[in-house]
Amino acid sequence: MTATRAADILPLRTDFAQLIDGELIAGTPTLDVINPATGAVFARAPRATHADLDRAVAAARRAFQSWRESSFEQRRLCIERLSAALRVQQESLAELLTREQGKPLSQSREEIVRAASLSEGMAAIPIEPEVLVENAQRHVELHYFPLGVVGIITPWNAPINLAPGPLTMALYTGNTAVLKPSPYTPLCTLKLGELLRDIFPAGVVNILAGGDDCGQWMSEHPGIDKISFTGSVASGKKVMASAAATLKRITLELGGNDAAIVLDDVDPKSIAPKLFFASFVNSGQVCMAIKRIYAHERIYQALCEALAGEARKARIGDGLQSDTQFGPIQNRMQYERVLGLLEDSRRRGGHILAGGEVAPGPGYFIAPTIITDLPEDARLIKEEQFGPLLPVLRFSDVGDAIRRANDTRYGLAASVWSSDIERATAVALRLEVGTAWVNQHRATAANVPFGGVKESGIGCNYAELGLKGNMEARVISVLKA
Ligand code: NAD
Repeated sequence: MTATRAADILPLRTDFAQLIDGELIAGTPTLDVINPATGAVFARAPRATHADLDRAVAAARRAFQSWRESSFEQRRLCIERLSAALRVQQESLAELLTREQGKPLSQSREEIVRAASLSEGMAAIPIEPEVLVENAQRHVELHYFPLGVVGIITPWNAPINLAPGPLTMALYTGNTAVLKPSPYTPLCTLKLGELLRDIFPAGVVNILAGGDDCGQWMSEHPGIDKISFTGSVASGKKVMASAAATLKRITLELGGNDAAIVLDDVDPKSIAPKLFFASFVNSGQVCMAIKRIYAHERIYQALCEALAGEARKARIGDGLQSDTQFGPIQNRMQYERVLGLLEDSRRRGGHILAGGEVAPGPGYFIAPTIITDLPEDARLIKEEQFGPLLPVLRFSDVGDAIRRANDTRYGLAASVWSSDIERATAVALRLEVGTAWVNQHRATAANVPFGGVKESGIGCNYAELGLKGNMEARVISVLKA
């Protein structure tokens, strides 16, 4: 494992402010932000109080009165300006994203450009009234109206990718918004707020930097009409419970335990790099990363060796170093959790084929690790690892592989790999997930909905379905004669 480190020798950054009612409010910087590559605090941000949230919600409610009357076209133009601003600020945002989140700079750049194009893509989707009945007696139409104020809560693994998407869905459909990122990674989102201030009328978008408590206040707040939440299953359940008191609408984008089923007719060498990247990108801290591989016994050994070869080549280090491919785990709590899963895997008889090394601190580095021979009830198979550990399991009967892949409360995504697309698609149709890919993993687009089934979520993001999740349908029914 070659871990390169860049010491944070820069002065502590405190140039961050919340956006409330069109004003940037610096407040007292009390939220410490740690660079996971060094383990050191490198910035301080304001931390939202309940009074900040009340002001943001009041501003959003006021702004809703005129924003709801604006046209889709006017709102689309604002979203296009948001996407353009993201592209212009790509370099400074990417560096900040790598410092607070840890991922390699090239992946930070990609995340920003991707967020820009997804937002633009969604704001090009038309939402029209639908005629449901048209006959001599009746004319019945379905119209879509904005809900009001949408509270958006985001996690620490992809703070830029996961903020403009839900924001676009809320704002383009005529809602106003209050957004709160994870307390581990608030900085890029606060900088996004500075860009948004010059694009949207005061109060339409409000950006707070708060802790978990702020997320709970938002879920309970009577002035918020919907919560769009991305995060863990455990927090998602708390959001749902808190939102029940005011019958808020909710979209929950939660964790996953994605299985990849590899059939007997693949060339293990040629697919191994794709499987490896889809498992370890952002050091496995991706909701839709591959979390388990089920490989047919005919190609199992060759695939394990090819994956281990990829792991041994991996360059781990500070994401700011140009040759880094895999950065650190984002925070100490998650780092210790992943170490616990590694330890448990050893205890359960798992064979560490590659990786398994932990660099001495500072920084939260664990090498990409391939683990075989684990029993099906090991924690690493049952739980979402959200880190760079990949179990590879053997099967001889594809029906058995499907049953094991489905034997989980998660249902985010999965993939099937084969040289026979029809055969793979038939397997994909039997997987209980929101998205089942064939010969790919992690492909999303502005016009394709993405969301989980089972405990991986409720509702979806992107596409017409995602946009309509930010609206309420109302019927106009006319008796003609
Ligand atoms: P988390 O649930 O700990 O935190 C997510 C956000 O929720 C943070 O902003 C946090 O402050 C807030 N929060 C925490 N407790 C809350 C509460 N009681 N009420 C309201 N808000 C609360 O998740 P995390 O550790 O930041 O993120 C990792 C998880 O997110 C993983 O499970 C991952 O799979 C999931 N995720 C899902 C998707 C998806 O699209 N399905 C995308 C990215 C990440």
